[in-house]
Amino acid sequence: MVTYKQLLKEQTEGLVKAGNDNAVFDGAELLGLALGVDCRSGAFEALTEKPAEESVKAEFEALCERRKKGEPLQYILGEWEFYGLTVKVGKGVLIPRQDTETLVELIVDKYKNSDNLVVTDLCAGSGCIALALEKYLGCREVYAVEKSEAAAKYLAENIKLNGSAVKLVMGDVLKEETAESLPVADIITCNPPYLTSADMAALQTEVTHEPAEALFGGEDGLDLYRAVTRIWKDRLVSGGTLIYEIGAGQEDDVMQIMVQHGFENVRCRPDPCGMMRCVMGTKK
Ligand code: GLN
Repeated sequence: MVTYKQLLKEQTEGLVKAGNDNAVFDGAELLGLALGVDCRSGAFEALTEKPAEESVKAEFEALCERRKKGEPLQYILGEWEFYGLTVKVGKGVLIPRQDTETLVELIVDKYKNSDNLVVTDLCAGSGCIALALEKYLGCREVYAVEKSEAAAKYLAENIKLNGSAVKLVMGDVLKEETAESLPVADIITCNPPYLTSADMAALQTEVTHEPAEALFGGEDGLDLYRAVTRIWKDRLVSGGTLIYEIGAGQEDDVMQIMVQHGFENVRCRPDPCGMMRCVMGTKK
């Protein structure tokens, strides 16, 4: 009889052969999912010595097959962690990246002593930014604007799962009427699609499973920065903050766009890896 441990070793080797750089991590997560036990728990460790049940073995192997074909681990697991919150994900919604925690951290740090804040998160996707700000800041209202039905389904689920007061607003951030339907905010956050045509042609297999509309920002990746800055700048209070996540090397262009639209103190900030990851500025 094969034990779970042996099964895990075998499947991990299979994942390595399929080109997976995180095979040990992914293998353990997927076995945990098949067993219904957190792979970081003592219970999981104890179970791995036991002979594998046929149904769990079949389930685990099927999960590993999906992973070998390039489906993102996060979609297979159905949830991921972001800034200490559990966020449901799946086909049709962008997976929260650790990179995006930089944006949350900057805003939490800037506004940690404020309360009664009104926050609007544009291109909200899973809702990870909105949920984190609602949880860690003194907010009166947090709006999460999303146009994709598929993404909004996860967003609504995540609001419920986290017992959050975030308000989901179905709408296109590129339409003036969406901006006009919302109150003036103290903070507007946005992680727009910002990949260029060249980036899109060279996507990692996993990323091709994610919605292109959450990734592609036009030929030079900057379409959303231009449009969102123009349309939403008047939905901020005087002294309010607009903050964007940006892609590699976009800081100068995005700072220029914000300066042209009259923002002050326009600055970029690096992520923990040292890459410029956010651009923020103050409404006059
Ligand atoms: N950070 C994502 C990536 O590297 C891009 C997400 C976005 O365009 N906002 O694929």
